[in-house]
Parts: sequence; C-alpha cells; structure tokens
Amino acid sequence: VQRLTEFDTIAAISTPIGEGGISIVRMSGEEAVTIANRVFKGKNLEQVPTHTINYGHVVDPASGQVIDEVMVSVMRAPKTFTKEDVVEINCHGGIVVTNDILRLLLANGARMADPGEFTKRAFVNGRIDLTQAESVMDIIRAKTDKARAVAVRQLAGGLLEEIRAIRQQILDVLANVEVNIDYPEYDEEQVTAEKMRACSEKATAEIDRLLQTAQEGQILRNGLATAIVGRPNVGKSSLLNYLTQSDKAIVTDVAGTTRDTLEEYVSVRGVPLKLIDTAGIHHTEDTVEKIGVERSKQAIGQADLVLLLLDASQELTAEDQRLLDYTKDKKRIIVLNKTDLGVKLDADQLESSQSPVIATSILQKAHLDELEDLIKQLFFSGIENSNDQVLVTNQRQAGLLEQAKRQLADVVSGLEAGMPVDLVQIDFTGAWETLGEITGESSPDELINDLFSQFCLGK
Ligand code: GDP
Ligand code: ZN
Repeated sequence: VQRLTEFDTIAAISTPIGEGGISIVRMSGEEAVTIANRVFKGKNLEQVPTHTINYGHVVDPASGQVIDEVMVSVMRAPKTFTKEDVVEINCHGGIVVTNDILRLLLANGARMADPGEFTKRAFVNGRIDLTQAESVMDIIRAKTDKARAVAVRQLAGGLLEEIRAIRQQILDVLANVEVNIDYPEYDEEQVTAEKMRACSEKATAEIDRLLQTAQEGQILRNGLATAIVGRPNVGKSSLLNYLTQSDKAIVTDVAGTTRDTLEEYVSVRGVPLKLIDTAGIHHTEDTVEKIGVERSKQAIGQADLVLLLLDASQELTAEDQRLLDYTKDKKRIIVLNKTDLGVKLDADQLESSQSPVIATSILQKAHLDELEDLIKQLFFSGIENSNDQVLVTNQRQAGLLEQAKRQLADVVSGLEAGMPVDLVQIDFTGAWETLGEITGESSPDELINDLFSQFCLGK
C-alpha cells in the first residue's frame, strides 16, 4: 500500500440524512481545525486543547449570518480515528442546516469526502487493518445487537490477531528454511521439511476453525433468509405479524444501503431473520392460487430456513404433502399450527422428516417462544454463548482463507511426494501472502479502493 504523507482535508455529513436530534459534520486532515475556526464563533479552536468539545455558533464569514448553535469536537492527530486532525461539528438535526454547514466548510477549504474515505485514511495511516475497516461497515449495517457485537469485536482486532498469529508461525518456519538453504550443513533438510509440514497442518486446522464461523458470520451480517410457507389459511400472515410486531425491534434500513422492498428484517433471539417475500404473504391470499405457488417456490429457493406451516386441526392435504416434499432438503422447521382447535393431523406422517416439529397456536400466542428458541438453536449452537468468538463475516475473508488452505494442502502433498523444500516453500510463502491479504498487509491498491467505495458517505 502506498502511504501518502500529505492529505487534503475532507468533510462529510456522518449521520444519516434526515430529521433527527443532532447531526454530525466531520472533517479530517491537516487543515481541519483551521477551516473549522474560519466558520466558528466561540473560542479560538486553534488554541483549545485536543479532545475537547467547544460550544459556539457556526457563522458564514462571508455574510456574517449565523447558521446554527453547535458543539465542536477538536481532536488533534495522532490519537484520532484517521490519525489526522479531526473536527466534528454537532449541529441540530435537519437537512437544511446540516447541508449549509457542510457547504460552508467546502467553501472554506475542505473537499467533499468520497464514500468510505475517513475509514480508508484510518487504514492507509496504519490505524486499522482491512478486517477492522470491514467491521466499520458491518457496524453501520448491523441488523441486530449480536451482529453489532461481533463487528465491534472485529473492530477491536479479533480476526486480525488470529490471522497475524498464523502468519507469524509460518514466518518462523520460513526463517528456518532460509537458514537451511544458506547453510545446508547446519540443519538437515528433513528436519525443516518436518517443521513445515507440522506448521501447515496446524495452520490448516486454525483456518478451518475460522472458516466454520463463516456461515454464522454471513448470517449475522446479511440476515438469515427465511421463507414462511404453507397453504392458504394456515396462519402465515398471523406468524408474520407476530414476528414483525414492534417489540421485536424490526431493524429498518440504514441510509445509504439498498434493500429489496419485499424483505423485512426481524431479530429473533439475536438472530437477524430476513423474511423473504413478505409482500407475497401479505397480498396473495385472494389472488389466483398459481401465483401464490410460484411465489412460494421462489421464496423457498432463496431461503436459508423454511418455516413450513401446517394446520394441525385438519388432516394433511395433498397440498401440504407437496410442500413437505418440495422443502425436504431445506433447513426447515415444521410448525403445526391451530392446535387450539384440536389435533387431527397425524404427526406420524411427518416422522420420515428430519426437521424439528413444533406445535403452536399462533392465535393464542402459545409455544411461540419455543419456536424462537428453536430458530436460535438451529443456527447458533455453540456460537451464541461464547462472547469472545471471532467470526469471519464476509465472502472476501472466507475466499482468501480457502485459498490459503489450498496452498497449505499443496505444501503437505508436495512434501509427501518428496519435493525439495525450496520448491515447496513457494506455496508456503504463498499462503503467508494470501493471509496477509485478509488484513490488508499485502493487498493490491485496486482491491482497497473497491472495498472502501462500498461504504456510506461520511464514514
Ligand atoms: P394465511 O392465509 O396462511 O396467511 O393465514 P392467516 O394468518 O391469514 O390466518 C387465517 C385465519 O386463521 C385467520 O382468521 C387467523 O386468525 C386464524 N388463525 C391463525 N392462527 C391460528 C391459530 O393458531 N388458531 C386458530 N384458531 N386460528 C388461527
Ligand atoms: Zn394471511
């Protein structure tokens, strides 16, 4: 990574655009304090101690017009998010005021920040690594408290530390190989080969453990895609209403991210469920049956989890059976609903299914917490409770871990085939480099630009 020594001063609105209690306009760069001071009436910001909050007014120096009453945080480098001078202007929420302040800063020497540019500076200035930068994005987009907790841990460097430890082990062996090649008489080739092999196997086991967390990490990040299916009248809308009721903390869209309008997010015991095609559930009840079937097939296709509802008070119908067959290879919970009306459905008919079965009355809100527990158990067995768990949360990280794993497998098979150590060393070094790409310690610039451009403005 090219380290730039000089940066211009960037500015952006860091809070979501809209009406709110307060908004924050942030600047970073050498001129941040000077520029803020040009538009600030109150103390002389160039003379206040670092890491202080200062009361005053933003005033347009050209017109003398007072824009807003504000609190200005002055944070001098290097102990800031970007390692540069940072100024944050806390103003009254409101689109017009916030934009006016930003415009004033731009007119007085700042440049509009690109999306993710603050975080990019933190990375380029060595304040955070790539996994930490990604976690900033995860925190912004987190859909549940649990997802946020994992992201915060990653921001603190959890994954970075694990990757660094693996890389260090590889490096130690590599140092050993160099000695061996330079002074073949000092160390028997056989000993080095053995060390390389042991290290590859140990690293592979550690990578495997990290990869196992990737599925949970993905789900935490993106939500567990969940389809609620069943024939008309079994209680799909009722279950949907229950899940999306207000005390379930429906997580709404974050400004700047896009979302399919047919999806709703709910948090069930810390598991973010992305409910698929809720519009289909809401609105297809009275339309032609065929549309309903087609839609539920599509929803099932996308689902990580299927909640299949059956009416327990009636015998199993041919349509129920079709849905049972159609979803049999999915991760699935079978919900026998309307048990308050008596049970006519013969549960033995479901016995061949591997899926957990739960009897409920959604109308009477009976056994719904068991359903929630089951959803949680299905996906977080062993993960949910360990708070220090480091999770691989995105595809980029998982892909690179897979690649490093393949390289280490080549090392082991190469050694087994009796290849000379200095040849096998190429893959061994490759694995070390691949792992470095996860943290950004050996990432190409293009990737870095790509990654940061996914951020929202002002981050
Ligand atoms: P959907 O067509 O699958 O979406 O089913 P709805 O949720 O619209 O429910 C159809 C009807 O069944 C409504 O009148 C609900 O109030 C009723 N219903 C839903 N769950 C239960 C239940 O557990 N017990 C009883 N008795 N009625 C229920
Ligand atoms: Zn309905």
